[in-house]
Amino acid sequence: MAVLFSTDERFRDHDTGPFHPERAARLAAVEDGLLLAGVDDAVERIEPRPATDEELQRVHPEAFVRGIERFCESGQTHVDGDTVVSVQSAHLARLGSGAGIDAIERMRAGEADAAFIAPRPPGHHATATRAMGFCLFNHAAVAAASLTAVGERVAIVDIDAHHGNGTQDIFYRDPDVLYVSWHQHPLYPGTGLARDVGEGPGLGTTINLPMPPAATGDHYRGLFEQIVVPAIEAHGTTWLIISAGFDGHRDDPLTDLGLTSADYGDLVADVISTVPAGRRIVFLEGGYDLEAVTRSTAATVAALFGERLHPERPTAGGPGGDVVELVTATRERIGNLRA
Ligand SMILES: [Zn+2]
Repeated sequence: MAVLFSTDERFRDHDTGPFHPERAARLAAVEDGLLLAGVDDAVERIEPRPATDEELQRVHPEAFVRGIERFCESGQTHVDGDTVVSVQSAHLARLGSGAGIDAIERMRAGEADAAFIAPRPPGHHATATRAMGFCLFNHAAVAAASLTAVGERVAIVDIDAHHGNGTQDIFYRDPDVLYVSWHQHPLYPGTGLARDVGEGPGLGTTINLPMPPAATGDHYRGLFEQIVVPAIEAHGTTWLIISAGFDGHRDDPLTDLGLTSADYGDLVADVISTVPAGRRIVFLEGGYDLEAVTRSTAATVAALFGERLHPERPTAGGPGGDVVELVTATRERIGNLRA
């Protein structure tokens, strides 16, 4: 298997200050994950290029992009209480979005089987017109929009502990993009209820799997088999994007889920099996315990190479078993609405 790894030293220049959890050391933790998995030499490292205006503006209106650029260049630091930027941040966010598109172009040319992108700032909370939750531009959404523009059908599977409100919002009425999110509920940003299922032509192509605190990997695996696999088959997905936040790890300081790095690896291995090789792209989103990020990156990248790596034990027996009934009932109701 050929696996692309795209990051950039310059992402460390996105300066969030001395006490912010979304900090440059996270990227060193990701690099340590490649070493832990023994794939440091096996990955093909590629240098990202900035997304063009046209590529960004498939998702983010020009006025929003210019506003973010002016804000950062002005030297202001707080977009909101927890979204902190520095002078370079808008350009680096553009580079993060470009990294995804560049990896897609290489895979479409048959150069690789999968790609792991490690950008800063992350993306999945950014809506089309609002930066929030540490995020400026939505990299997964920009990547998905570049694919639907050429007729692909994209599933974005979001395994960050937080709901990807931005991604959901951008594609809420779009039948070409299936958005699936496992996330802790309740938790920031408070969105992602099971009853939020898309609307209009996008009815049924948003699937929220709200997990209770301390939820374990067995329930993630059960939901994958019973909900996610049938949904991806029904959608006719041709490309897969994973928003891989590793803050669902039980050691994460911001959240309360019960996962381990092995759960992350197994979940990624399962999810990528739903599309052929060469159509699989993973974006780092959150993840704030550095050792958990290292181990979870190792298990995830190993999965992209077709290996199951368990730096820790997979988990089972915690709460979360009732989510499958909740979501099944919701999806049956949509079926009735359509019929
Ligand atoms: Zn998160």
